[in-house]
Amino acid sequence: MVQSYTDLLIEQCEGKVTGDVKEFSEHITEGVTRMRALINGLLAYSRVGTHGKPLEPTDCNVVFEEAVNNLLVAVKESKASVTHDPLPTVSADSTQLTQLFQNLIGNAVKFQKKDVPPQVHVSAEYKEKEWVFSVQDNGIGIDPKYFERIFLPFQRLHTVAEYPGSGIGLATCRKIVERHGGRIWVSAEPSKGSVFYFIIPSPKE
Ligand code: ADP
Repeated sequence: MVQSYTDLLIEQCEGKVTGDVKEFSEHITEGVTRMRALINGLLAYSRVGTHGKPLEPTDCNVVFEEAVNNLLVAVKESKASVTHDPLPTVSADSTQLTQLFQNLIGNAVKFQKKDVPPQVHVSAEYKEKEWVFSVQDNGIGIDPKYFERIFLPFQRLHTVAEYPGSGIGLATCRKIVERHGGRIWVSAEPSKGSVFYFIIPSPKE
């Protein structure tokens, strides 16, 4: 509604919109866009526990393709290369698994170094009766002192001007992984890229 009425106001003032009014309306649009992303993020976070589907055999190769497809604009704009090893079929909620892949790959593409095309690789290894997935990037990395904090809601290490986002993505990833009985963690160094790992307990098929 805020956006619609702002658009109507600008339309009504056609030809009379001066520098300041134009700038203010752009601020409103930016704010509305951020608020929409935040509300959608919060909804996704809160729905992990309440709107989940039963866990069923889910082909992670299909999940990967879907997640990358949802990120197509960001992938193309950043000239990212997003690759994967053959991935297993695990017992999962396919919608939530897609969201998990999408959040992790989306971050890997977003938190990149200037002028370095992102390289993201997803793989999975069967260790001690569990599938351990990894999402590796060549981006800006993370200081180990923030390894726990980034999985909490609204914890961001950068301003919105540096990298857009509302800080709810990794908290949602953690909730999804925990709903599947697994865990998620990160290994990274500043400026040397990051690897996010998560476990989805599932027998090898
Ligand atoms: P958002 O992406 O909206 O900022 P997230 O919850 O997804 O929120 O991530 C929290 C913070 O963790 C990010 O703001 C960023 O500082 C850090 N982070 C997440 N993924 C990466 C990554 N692949 N490389 C570097 N930093 C990351």
